Amino acid sequence: MSGTRRLYFEDAYLAEFDADVLERTERDGRSAVVLDRTAFYPESGGQPWDTGTLGGAAVLAVLDLDGVILHVLDKAIEAGPVHGRVDWPGRFDRMQQHTGQHVLSQAFWEVLKGETRSFHLGPEVSTLEIGLAAAANADLDRVEDRANTVVWEDRTVKTYFVPEERIGEVPLRRPPKKQGLLRVVEVDGFDYSACGGTHVRRTGEIGLVRLGPAEKIRGNLRFDFLCGGRALRDYRQKDRSARKLAGTFSCAAAGVAAQVEKLGAEHKALKKRARKLEERLAAFEAGEVIRSAPGRVISAVLEDRTPDEARFLALNVIKGGEFAVAYGAPGEGQGHLIVARSDAFKADLRGLVPVIAAVVPAKGGGGPSLIELVFPDKERLREAVDAAAAWLRENT
Ligand SMILES: [Zn+2]
Repeated sequence: MSGTRRLYFEDAYLAEFDADVLERTERDGRSAVVLDRTAFYPESGGQPWDTGTLGGAAVLAVLDLDGVILHVLDKAIEAGPVHGRVDWPGRFDRMQQHTGQHVLSQAFWEVLKGETRSFHLGPEVSTLEIGLAAAANADLDRVEDRANTVVWEDRTVKTYFVPEERIGEVPLRRPPKKQGLLRVVEVDGFDYSACGGTHVRRTGEIGLVRLGPAEKIRGNLRFDFLCGGRALRDYRQKDRSARKLAGTFSCAAAGVAAQVEKLGAEHKALKKRARKLEERLAAFEAGEVIRSAPGRVISAVLEDRTPDEARFLALNVIKGGEFAVAYGAPGEGQGHLIVARSDAFKADLRGLVPVIAAVVPAKGGGGPSLIELVFPDKERLREAVDAAAAWLRENT
């Protein structure tokens, strides 16, 4: 079978077309058809396939199999005439990104002598790998400015075919990967590429080129970039969140980053101070507990404490004298029992674990001088604390 006629080569703006179903087949368990002609772009050269409909079926994938274009469908369609409809917003978006890539690639070459190593057009962000080990922000701004100047000059984007033997006459940015008749995409007088993708007619339709962050890969820099509608949506979203933050901080949108930085530093300092105060308070409280202790065994349910606070207090009490402590603290949905003893006592608290577990279902453990048990029924904290206190009185 000869190759499918590619209507998108003739007119990238053709979103609806009529064709004949020449062959009905299957691909990975799905129905698939070959047409005599198609406006659907198959996945190739870093540009994803088009979606849309063929007759009553949805086009799920479009593949180029040695010149024959296969349309993978969600259901079978009849042989014979069929009407095709390419999802136009999706296609135009890819035309903006793809043409923007040509402009950006040439701007990288012109400004920094950075060669394009690869390009991938993603569903949300596209990437461009450039043969540069590093680049300063000021240089990247120059590249971005150059690309956008070419966009605003509204240059025509021409496509034409050149036989392989005459391709030397075209100042291509990169040597062609294919042989035979080569399709050249020229951004008028600025960039010449051998490319089979779909492009806008004039650079003005790219709208805007925005260079995103770079990461190092294989000794190159790989950039994210956005063009056209994607760049607008990105700007809109970032502008809204910057304005919202500016409102919160009562500052200009440009000052938000500095405000967040300041707030972060303050937060860190406050956390440090809060920890110091907690330590001082625990030491003070431990003194109070010790002064009013009924004996060497101290026990209580600390309703308004977190398990961490209860543990901290217990450790301060046993540091302050010869005591054994059993504290209950209601955790998040669970009860915690913390038992600790001074070194003066020799009893191994791990012996207490099965005793408590026999009274209240619990899990946990620890060392000879400190154990912590967690039980799902926090209503039974008091029972657990009493059982622990009784054991401590007997065993210490
Ligand atoms: Zn292209």
